[in-house]
Amino acid sequence: MQLWNGKTLTVILLSALLLGVLYCYISQSYRVVSLGSVWEEITADGRSEVHIESHQFHLVAPDSLQYKQPSIVSGRTDVVTVTPWLAPVVWEGTFNPVLLDSIYKPQNISVAVTVFAVGKYVMFLKDFLETAEQYFFVGFNVHVYVFTDQPTKMPQVKMGSGRQLTVRSVPSSKRWQEISARRMELIQTLIEEKLRNRTDYIFCLDVDSKFHGRWGTESLGGLVAVIHPGYYRDDRSQFPYERRPQSRAYVGPGQGDFYYCGGAFGGLLQEVHQLAKTCRSNFEADAKEGIEAAWQEESHLNRYMWINKPSKVLSPEYLWQDFKPRNAEVYIVRFSGVVKNYAEIRPNV
Ligand code: UDP
Ligand code: MN
Repeated sequence: MQLWNGKTLTVILLSALLLGVLYCYISQSYRVVSLGSVWEEITADGRSEVHIESHQFHLVAPDSLQYKQPSIVSGRTDVVTVTPWLAPVVWEGTFNPVLLDSIYKPQNISVAVTVFAVGKYVMFLKDFLETAEQYFFVGFNVHVYVFTDQPTKMPQVKMGSGRQLTVRSVPSSKRWQEISARRMELIQTLIEEKLRNRTDYIFCLDVDSKFHGRWGTESLGGLVAVIHPGYYRDDRSQFPYERRPQSRAYVGPGQGDFYYCGGAFGGLLQEVHQLAKTCRSNFEADAKEGIEAAWQEESHLNRYMWINKPSKVLSPEYLWQDFKPRNAEVYIVRFSGVVKNYAEIRPNV
């Protein structure tokens, strides 16, 4: 006796397909709902208002979790762990990674990463991607976007479960300043075209670097900046901000909190979109007047962060430099720029 005739089989297959599509749709909308939503509104007078209706401030921990009692009177005293506007400064010893992961895991968050490898910088991709697999948001949904002018030179890197890699082609350039500066524009368009409503957080990182230790949920926040390892003990007058008032990246004497890195920043998608859009348009407006800020987009980022205070600040553990001996307060180097010969790898000097 024939149990399944062609018609029944078709009906079953179609129903399965329908159920699959329905499941994907429901789980996607549930995820967005579960994290809350962020949107931008243009007001009648043309101003942009960002609304964040996020549950990120509602931190739900699992009832069963047991961990070391946090102290309110002892902790790190060798470093500052909070800014004057009360944003945490993340140092080893200030957070419990197991607790944080168990808070964020049920939220099923997704994290995008952008990295640029143009010209000879493709040589850094392999180590960057392989070490990211070992240390960057392990166990979470991570989508790495590589922007390169040589997609054929992409290294083969095995991505763990829940982790994806996408390659986007970009034109080559004869000036490293331009490559570096165009990143803001490309980040802005990536967010607008691909990530909106799909990704919760984004980090934008330099490719000439490697991970050496955990970089995870402790780094999540609205607007996240990393303290530059080269200047964090210096007086603000020594910071290499753009000092010409004609530039839109200008930071005046007596201004500026910290000197932040252009090589690592991130946060909630909408916050990073606002940052990238602003830095890009200021950079382009400067360029029209023949001005290029001292450290290109890093200068614009520093100006932006002076006005728009980061809600979380990552210590120099999150972007050290391999040529620099580790200072005593840096218990762990999590991410670090490799030593490179500028004359050899940049298209111009
Ligand atoms: N970059 C690139 N090709 C270049 C120059 C720069 O892809 O020829 C990208 C790359 O992602 C690099 C970033 O721009 O990490 C910033 O440049 P670089 O690392 O040279 O600046 P530094 O960290 O030395 O200030
Ligand atoms: Mn770099």
